[in-house]
Amino acid sequence: MKKTLLAVRALMSVPKDNPGLVKAQYSALARQLPMMYFILLVNTLLLAGTHFAVAPRWLVVYCPAVMTLFGVIRTVEWIRTRKQTRSPAQMLTALKRTNMLAPFVAVAFTAWSLALFPYGDGYTQAHVAFYMAITVIGCIFCMMHLLPAALATTAVVNTAFVVFFASTTIITFVATAIDVLLVSIAMLVILKVQYADFTRLVNMQAHTAKLSEENLHLANQDSLTGLANRRQFFSRLDTLLARAREQETRLAVGLIDLDGFKPVNDLYGHSVGDRLLYQVGQRLTGLLDDDTHLARLGGDEFALIITQPMSDDQLRTFGEKVCASMREPFLLVDIPIQISASLGIATFPDQAASATEVYEYADYALYQSKRHRPGTVCLFSAAHRQQLNREGLTEQALRRADLNDEFHVVFQPIVELGSERTIAFEALARWQSPELGNVSPSEFIPIAERVGMVNRLTVPLLGKALEAAASWPAGMRLSFNLSAHDCGSEDAAQQIVELIKRSPFDPARIDLEITETAAIQDLPQTQQAIRRFRELGCGISLDDFGTGYSSLSQIHALSLTKLKVDRTFVTHIDADPASFKIVKSLIALCQDMQLECIVEGVETAAELAALKNLGCAWAQGYLFAKPMPASEIGAWLEGEQLARAKAV
Ligand code: C2E
Ligand code: CA
Ligand code: CA
Repeated sequence: MKKTLLAVRALMSVPKDNPGLVKAQYSALARQLPMMYFILLVNTLLLAGTHFAVAPRWLVVYCPAVMTLFGVIRTVEWIRTRKQTRSPAQMLTALKRTNMLAPFVAVAFTAWSLALFPYGDGYTQAHVAFYMAITVIGCIFCMMHLLPAALATTAVVNTAFVVFFASTTIITFVATAIDVLLVSIAMLVILKVQYADFTRLVNMQAHTAKLSEENLHLANQDSLTGLANRRQFFSRLDTLLARAREQETRLAVGLIDLDGFKPVNDLYGHSVGDRLLYQVGQRLTGLLDDDTHLARLGGDEFALIITQPMSDDQLRTFGEKVCASMREPFLLVDIPIQISASLGIATFPDQAASATEVYEYADYALYQSKRHRPGTVCLFSAAHRQQLNREGLTEQALRRADLNDEFHVVFQPIVELGSERTIAFEALARWQSPELGNVSPSEFIPIAERVGMVNRLTVPLLGKALEAAASWPAGMRLSFNLSAHDCGSEDAAQQIVELIKRSPFDPARIDLEITETAAIQDLPQTQQAIRRFRELGCGISLDDFGTGYSSLSQIHALSLTKLKVDRTFVTHIDADPASFKIVKSLIALCQDMQLECIVEGVETAAELAALKNLGCAWAQGYLFAKPMPASEIGAWLEGEQLARAKAV
């Protein structure tokens, strides 16, 4: 019994906890109820018309007038709501009101029509029966999306109809009553089924909408960090840039790349790497306000869109804050993990004019930061733009260049300080471009690396260096610079190995120079390449030492034979106590690790004196000689011999 009551209650109430269904019901009713009132009122007026001459005035004029007024008011109300947006609560109230009104309206219209029955002849009586039977069907169809109202109306009108007409004892009306009874039952069944279908359909639509919303969210989210992903970053950038353009405000894009993430991944495994990325995301989120949007673009690359207009200085300060926070250790395993982050920032509209440009310029600024001052922020500037243009030209010329003809090598002596004797020459590339003139290797090597051409350059250059070195006195060594890509690919290393094998120059007299940054980019592959060069008998020098981020364990893993201390530590070593201390400890480190130590970039006699003081054994620099063509080496060595002979 209780169950039945509950079922009836559920059937007769509006679903409060299903806003989707309420909305669907509301919009169906807003469409259909004006139509219902139109049918009801026209039929009512027609019935009043057929009874006008025979029934009392209050029944054919006043009652229909009141009913028409009510119907018109409700119609206007429903039509007006179509144009307004209603809150779910307002819609629910409207549905409840309709539910409540339905039985009263049904009673009023039924009572009125039955009150007309005694007047007139058989035709007018038949009109009353027809009016009730058919109008109620029209009304129920119009209200079918609000089951309680439809059911209440059916119950009131049809019960009254059946009871009233069955009791008239006029056989035609009794038959009509039976007819209406059957139709009512059928309508009740159909109404219930139809309403269930409608509810299911609306719920299904809501479910599908929710799913597609979830899908959209997932497609725009980075699953590891929970941040926006690359896709969302670019679509957000488009939107925010369009807004900045419209409002004529400044917008900045920052690209962050972690330094030292790969070694963490290699050393501790991917799960620690993943947790590190998550923590980086969290730490960055903590630094940002609502005007800055953070995304993970992939790997160890993050991106920022800063919509709050900031000056260059403010951006730099903000960038330094980001970099400083990334230098704080991360606690993931038993020891704290230390990484850093490089950040490149570009601004719209002063530097970049479009979304693509602002991203590319930020990427370029990031590249500059990584190359020159890793772990710091770099703001894209007008000078960068000029550089970028020049690089564009250089890249074009490089792609067109005849690599055998336009490139050659020059040689810079490496001197043994004790004996003042040249013991080796470092080969340095030179490019004489017919379009651009002389281009420095610091300019074209990075471009060749970026466009993947550097291996094609290394082979002819090494060939030329080996050819020149073949005529050197016995024991004289050759140093040759390799780029990251030469060691980072199996094929490239193989080509170098084959070339050295083919050359008559003794591989044991070759030192291959690699840089720290190159080595740690792909440590396992670099180790593999080094192993092959070492098997040939070549030495391996770590170039530009001190400028990168390699740890002692990484250096150890490389099986090196020499370290080259970067020029930046040597400049003013005689006057700068900090440089002096660094070089001193680097020389001590080499002694401990049994590596030969060459100090680069010695320019003054004072620097040389300071180095000698520190026990430095080998050096290279303009003080001894600038890089010279192969043809001048013979004369240089002779000159050196003469000078020694004179000294003796
Ligand atoms: P690096 O390997 O550190 O070479 C030393 C650079 O310092 C050379 O510049 C050399 O001319 C310069 N240098 C030598 N002594 C002094 C000095 O006392 N003072 C100053 N200010 N500079 C000095 P260069 O020839 O312009 O080469 C620049 C860089 O380009 C090289 O730096 C090296 O990283 C790269 N490079 C040069 N040749 C090759 C090559 O054949 N292959 C590859 N992969 N890279 C090369
Ligand atoms: Ca070098
Ligand atoms: Ca160097």
